[in-house]
Amino acid sequence: MSKKFLVTGGAGFIGSAFIRYIIKDTNHFIFNVDKLSYASNLHNLKDIKDNKRYFFEKLDISNAPRIQKILKNFQPDIILHLAAETHVDRSIDNPVEFLKTNVMGTFVMLEEARKYFSNLSKNKKKNFRFHHVSTDEVFGDLKDKNNFFKEETSYAPSSPYSASKASSDHFVRAWQRTFKLPTLITNCSNNYGPYQYPEKLIPLVILSALSGKELPVYGNGKQIRDWLYVDDHAKALLQVALYGKIGETYNIGGHNEVENIEVVKKICNILDKLHPSKIKGVKKYEQLINFVDDRPGHDERYAIDATKIKKKLKWKPHETFETGIKKTVKWYLENRSWYDKIKNVNRYERLGVIRK
Ligand code: NAD
Repeated sequence: MSKKFLVTGGAGFIGSAFIRYIIKDTNHFIFNVDKLSYASNLHNLKDIKDNKRYFFEKLDISNAPRIQKILKNFQPDIILHLAAETHVDRSIDNPVEFLKTNVMGTFVMLEEARKYFSNLSKNKKKNFRFHHVSTDEVFGDLKDKNNFFKEETSYAPSSPYSASKASSDHFVRAWQRTFKLPTLITNCSNNYGPYQYPEKLIPLVILSALSGKELPVYGNGKQIRDWLYVDDHAKALLQVALYGKIGETYNIGGHNEVENIEVVKKICNILDKLHPSKIKGVKKYEQLINFVDDRPGHDERYAIDATKIKKKLKWKPHETFETGIKKTVKWYLENRSWYDKIKNVNRYERLGVIRK
């Protein structure tokens, strides 16, 4: 049966992947609310923007009266809450924006959802869900190589970003427990894929290499992340939103643990084959790698145990890191025009700040 999704942050990287998936491959309806911050790009949605099952309003989620109005008029079955400030380096330099959107914004969404939910008919109430999209970074640093983040792992966030996401997760749980709002939480590992704003590691490396700029790697580059292709995340989100058990949390990850330096080298090797360097003095892209001072509070390792979502909701990722990273590099090579559209938009260079 077709459902109505209110998606927040749908013009960002993961939200736009989710919306493209829903509009192209399902019969569900989407209302996208996004304030169109620097990290957003409506071009990510150009293929589906005229679809009759897609609606959009430029709006900050902190605007409670407007959120209330949208809920009243659109009557969603599911709220998929992705809107957030998401870049750790920015959270170190300017944490207050993270509190405003990730904590206060989530609070507004919860409060408005609670009011909306309380006025629903019995039947609509039965099907309503508030799905909060969170990150594995709330669990902090996983030092022991044999350990994985499970749904029961204690929260120990290290950065202002992860602290704000952890806080929002707690509010979501509290609204479920105290007000019986039917909530779900997903904690996902690092995503990569097409349309990612080029301040994040993978697009930053691809696009810097193509321009012959240095490839900055934090510290010794040995930090481990568990990489998930964004379309696999989008599919997991739909499974949880439709079939997840109310009040529960689900970890999402691809068992693709790779050291940052290996990620950078893999990208360089793929580029060497697909787009051999024409940059003067650069035979191999790896020559551009430059180790810089480590990020303050940098976590060493994240790794997800995704057994629960695999067993209970029959989800599994389709891409391995090998297949996904090849697809991703190819996409950025074939879509330089997408990058050209955003490259003047205040690209963030904390790495540059640290080096000075
Ligand atoms: P993104 O930065 O690419 O996009 C965030 C979107 O939210 C942007 O379109 C932005 O305009 C919008 N937004 C920000 N503040 C807003 C506000 N106050 N009101 C309305 N819209 C606002 O982020 P992403 O990588 O797509 O991440 C989406 C969600 O998934 C976030 O909640 C993030 O914490 C979570 N997450 C991300 C990853 C990852 O690797 N990218 C992994 C796990 C979880």
